[in-house]
Amino acid sequence: MDSRLEAVRDTVLARNPGEKEFHQAVTEVFESLGPVHDRHPEFLEGAVLERLCEPERQIIFRVPWTDDAGRVHVNRGFRVEFNSALGPYKGGLRFHPSVYLGIVKFLGFEQIFKNALTGMPIGGGKGGSDFDPRGRSDAEIMRFCQSFMTELYRHIGEYTDVPAGDIGVGGREIGYLFGQYKRITNRYESGVLTGKGISWGGSLVRPEATGYGTVIFAQEMLKTRGQSFDGQRVVVSGSGNVAIHAIAKAQSLGATVVACSDSAGYIVDEAGIDVALLSQIKEVERGRLTEYEARRPGASHVSGGSVWDVSGTVALPCATQNELDGDAAAKLVSNGLIAVAEGANMPSTRSAVSVFQEAGILFGPGKAANAGGVATSALEMQQNASRDSWSFEHTEQRLTEIMVGIHDRCAETAAEYGAPGNYVVGANIGGFVKVADAMLAQGLI
Ligand code: GLU
Repeated sequence: MDSRLEAVRDTVLARNPGEKEFHQAVTEVFESLGPVHDRHPEFLEGAVLERLCEPERQIIFRVPWTDDAGRVHVNRGFRVEFNSALGPYKGGLRFHPSVYLGIVKFLGFEQIFKNALTGMPIGGGKGGSDFDPRGRSDAEIMRFCQSFMTELYRHIGEYTDVPAGDIGVGGREIGYLFGQYKRITNRYESGVLTGKGISWGGSLVRPEATGYGTVIFAQEMLKTRGQSFDGQRVVVSGSGNVAIHAIAKAQSLGATVVACSDSAGYIVDEAGIDVALLSQIKEVERGRLTEYEARRPGASHVSGGSVWDVSGTVALPCATQNELDGDAAAKLVSNGLIAVAEGANMPSTRSAVSVFQEAGILFGPGKAANAGGVATSALEMQQNASRDSWSFEHTEQRLTEIMVGIHDRCAETAAEYGAPGNYVVGANIGGFVKVADAMLAQGLI
């Protein structure tokens, strides 16, 4: 790392102790930015990096709620409003027991660059709670969401901060959150949340967008080597919203997706995953992957273990951060891997990324490859602002153009800065320069 940047990075780490995922995300971005600071001394003079690493505002709050037996629980809620140089803070809410400030800050930091890369007018933010939705009834989820919004509502708004979903937050939760926001504020403010239901201000393609976008990005990478998804053997991690739609899109392009996972293990289905069955089990029944084995002849379930033990030519990590380490990367490479596109946020550890890059594997980092979700959220905001709703075809076309645009911008930026084919460098520099220019133009804020 450039020594000028290293000094800034060390200060950021020292003043944010214990936030290891945030440290990882900052370090990974800074490693790409040396050449930008050679060309743009004004970024150093304006202390852009120091400002960028300090969120504009961080909100931490108590979320009390009662379960169905009347017992009182207390969770912690977060919203980190990281950067508004390009637009209102934008980013999801994650409900998962692993959530703490370091996770929210890593996600919010990544979101700044991701959102910049989409070319849409959205800043970066993220939030969530250490609440564990697993096994909770609809009524419990509703009471939790209502309590969460009873504090959050005062901090958000269509011109201020626009939350959406992430792990543990889907259409059901956005519905409860929106209902409570409307009730408290007495405003039908569609643009305050994205990921809404289609009959009350949501956008077609938003549910599919992250997974579809990841596959579109991967397809663009493959094209640079004269290849496509047709005939590829694909391994996916996760089995939530992102994974399901990535599997569907990859198979529609002629690939066979042979495996996917959840926190208890993974399934292997050499005939290609039955997306309708997977969606029924995971999205409708909110069940486990063991059910898939029971209902699908020829499929097998492996408890525990790593889905990355399954060989494939394309890997799509769509589960969570740091789910793919250096050893898993080496195994994938030795099994014939040619490309990786990250549907999750920071699923590959830094050593995994090094393994992929040293082996000459096409590697699309999450902040570029999974930007289709938030980009379609921005399309939902556009539709809300104009009180319009677009067709599936039109919206999907916009998503495709945005993903191809992100791919091309990353590729061009990487080449311009002397690292052709390095999408990590392209994404980090491409996102950073846009935000840094806007921050300088807006004065010392
Ligand atoms: N949570 C998603 C992400 O990581 C989507 C955010 C949004 O739509 O605002 O980008």
